[in-house]
Amino acid sequence: MEAPDFNVDTLLVTAHPDDEVMFFTPVLLAAKRCLILCLTDGGFRSREDGELRRREFKDSCKVYDGVEGIVPRIDGVEDTPKAGTWSGRERAIVKVMESKISDLGGKVVNIITFDEGGVSGHVNHCDCCAILRSWFDNLPVKKDGCGGAFEVRGKERSEPHRVR
Ligand SMILES: [Zn+2]
Repeated sequence: MEAPDFNVDTLLVTAHPDDEVMFFTPVLLAAKRCLILCLTDGGFRSREDGELRRREFKDSCKVYDGVEGIVPRIDGVEDTPKAGTWSGRERAIVKVMESKISDLGGKVVNIITFDEGGVSGHVNHCDCCAILRSWFDNLPVKKDGCGGAFEVRGKERSEPHRVR
């Protein structure tokens, strides 16, 4: 399998502050420019904990060249170990993600997230994979290569890469 081209922009979708360093440090080191979309503030224990982790996430991103991180507030998308909590919020997540892809300039973008097992098995990690895969699988492939919000190249060769 071909490795991602890290000379193009990368969008890394994670679930909690600290996922980026625990699971994706090789991506952060390899990517020339990476935007991390962290879907929750990690405030499972308390709101204060979420605010603290949000700040720690911002500081963590500063350690790496070319890495920027954002933690959007998406209704119903919270740090939780309970399966199914994000059900019905898929469209809201995709909407934020699509807007960030557009912010990256609509160029070729690597989109990276957890594998189907969530790496550690956390349900929020697994949801990241399921939501992005469903979004990707349902993107229209334009035969003439134009039109639509996203041009997908080589869709048939798009199995996720594993980052170890
Ligand atoms: Zn996590």
